[in-house]
Amino acid sequence: MTTQAGVLSIESANVFAILRTWLYAEPDIVFRELVSNAADAVAKLRDLARRGQAAAPAGRIDVVLDAAARTATISDDGLGMTADEVDRYLNQIAFSGASDFIERYRDADDDAIIGHFGVGFYSAFMLAERVEVDTRSYLPGAQPVHWECTSAMEYSLGAGARERTGTTVTLHLAVDSPYLVGPEAARDAVARYFAFLPVAVHVTFRTGSGEVADGHDAVLISDDAPVWRRAGAGAAVEPGAMREFYRTHFDDPFDPLFWIPVTSLDLGLRGVVFLRDTRGGAREIEGRLDVYSRGVLVGTDLAGLAPKFLGLHSIVLECDELPLVVSRSGVRTDDPRDGVPALVGECLTQEVIIALHTMATQDRPTFERLWPEIGSFVKYGVLTDRTFASVLAKRLLFADLDGRLGTLAEHLGTLAEHLGDPPATTVLYTSDLADQALLVDVFRRNHLPALVLDRVIDQPLLRAMESAQPGLTFRRLDADPVALLAAPSCDLSPAQCTALADEVGAALGERVPGATVQVVGLSVPDLPVLLTADEASRRTGDLAQLYGLTQGREIDDQGLVERTVVVNGNSTLVGLLVACQDPPARELAIAHLVDLALLTGAALGPETVPALLLRSQRLLEHFLSTR
Ligand code: ADP
Ligand code: MG
Repeated sequence: MTTQAGVLSIESANVFAILRTWLYAEPDIVFRELVSNAADAVAKLRDLARRGQAAAPAGRIDVVLDAAARTATISDDGLGMTADEVDRYLNQIAFSGASDFIERYRDADDDAIIGHFGVGFYSAFMLAERVEVDTRSYLPGAQPVHWECTSAMEYSLGAGARERTGTTVTLHLAVDSPYLVGPEAARDAVARYFAFLPVAVHVTFRTGSGEVADGHDAVLISDDAPVWRRAGAGAAVEPGAMREFYRTHFDDPFDPLFWIPVTSLDLGLRGVVFLRDTRGGAREIEGRLDVYSRGVLVGTDLAGLAPKFLGLHSIVLECDELPLVVSRSGVRTDDPRDGVPALVGECLTQEVIIALHTMATQDRPTFERLWPEIGSFVKYGVLTDRTFASVLAKRLLFADLDGRLGTLAEHLGTLAEHLGDPPATTVLYTSDLADQALLVDVFRRNHLPALVLDRVIDQPLLRAMESAQPGLTFRRLDADPVALLAAPSCDLSPAQCTALADEVGAALGERVPGATVQVVGLSVPDLPVLLTADEASRRTGDLAQLYGLTQGREIDDQGLVERTVVVNGNSTLVGLLVACQDPPARELAIAHLVDLALLTGAALGPETVPALLLRSQRLLEHFLSTR
């Protein structure tokens, strides 16, 4: 074989200069590109072997760092190259590939470049001053070839000494290369991209003496049978293995709540959606999406791949059809195959819908047990995804005041019994068990059904449900309790009612701007007063608060919400008050009643609290001194 030498091209220096500037951004790219090439070479030889055109390789890639020699070598037992191929693939194709790549991304910012595959073989010069390739083709009678190239782009191509079929790429690293400090850097780089390569990858680190350092011998990085490949193969994966995989891969100390295997033969898609345990929302709730193609990590959290509502959960996907045009920053849509990412999203949505629907209809106990954890996520899905909503809106669970879970349809039966016209379409709820504790207690004691809708997501959800189902209305407990609690008659005469309303109105003053006073007979004698808030205006106020337009107190101050102080003419206390002829005692009792009303509506301002406490103290003193 004659030795060939030359200079690659005039712009070469330029290409290198640009490659170098990327070096500091993400040097791991070099390992990604060279190990990918090695994996491709093994895959190609396996393919030839399947067709009976070559002997099958064991399939092994070795990444060896040698601190004394200052080299990194990447060896494979793939198909190798002939001298002609080296000339064609490395001198021409790889070089023009790198030039194309640079041309394409020249004006893009670093973030758009990093993560893109395709810089190829010449990325080696990001780390190396000199690169050697020793290769031997699988073709019968092929001679070993040695190729060498410096960063000045001078190459030589001649006879080599390699005995076995395959390729070794040797990078001569800079003295201060981080990959020569210890085994971790290279190991991490390889593990990040190739943890699930269907070819065994070993990383070895040699120290000064050239010997394999203690504990630094070849470490097997890749696992060619990750759970999702097994899950996709039809056989159910042992739950312990799934949990173990999830905890290690996503670095979560808690087991997933459950998982949903995802498979699409059309897309060559396999994966698992893990529903994370957020400990009732107490743990941070960012999930992660790892996407692999043929065992190589393509990207993490690729925007636009998974439906938004799955953002809380962790997903691992492998899609052979997903072209390598995705980067960490997103899925590129200028690719002719850009239908694939959309289809992947649809497939994920469908699998999650089916799994949740199956659980809700066939394993209700589990669905109920997990509901406190998954409820918000399912509601979010219903709110943000039409397909999801069409199947799962009916399956949403709600708790009643006693904590019993049921779908809206299941609850409506009970709710209807207690409501007038139109029946079964008004749903009472509490949005805050603490703030509305008094009415919650009254409802509980009187066996009046209501639901607990106390999550932030419940408000938009109930609005969505109302517009999806005409005639359905949600009303908070305090929106119009009079309609529910009204007694057939009132113990006070109309004249007494008017007089009392005036007195209470005077004591209330402007503490709840715009509030009106109503005296009626309620069927609960132990409830003297309460403060109601009209549903529609309160929701407007809530929204204003949600969007930061007003603060809590301002809503009251501005009289945005229509509120009513309801005085129960049938209450024992109110009866005594009306009968009382002692003006100071009446005044004190009325002031106290007004405070209690504000307290029931969680509208007691800080300026009122001291007065209420003092008055309570005085009342208690008086009570005790008369004993
Ligand atoms: P790409 O991998 O996208 O084709 P590269 O620049 O990475 O581009 O590599 C150029 C070509 O060099 C490859 O297509 C392949 O034919 C050849 N090549 C690179 N590395 C190897 C290897 N380890 N074994 C066999 N062929 C290789
Ligand atoms: Mg390549």
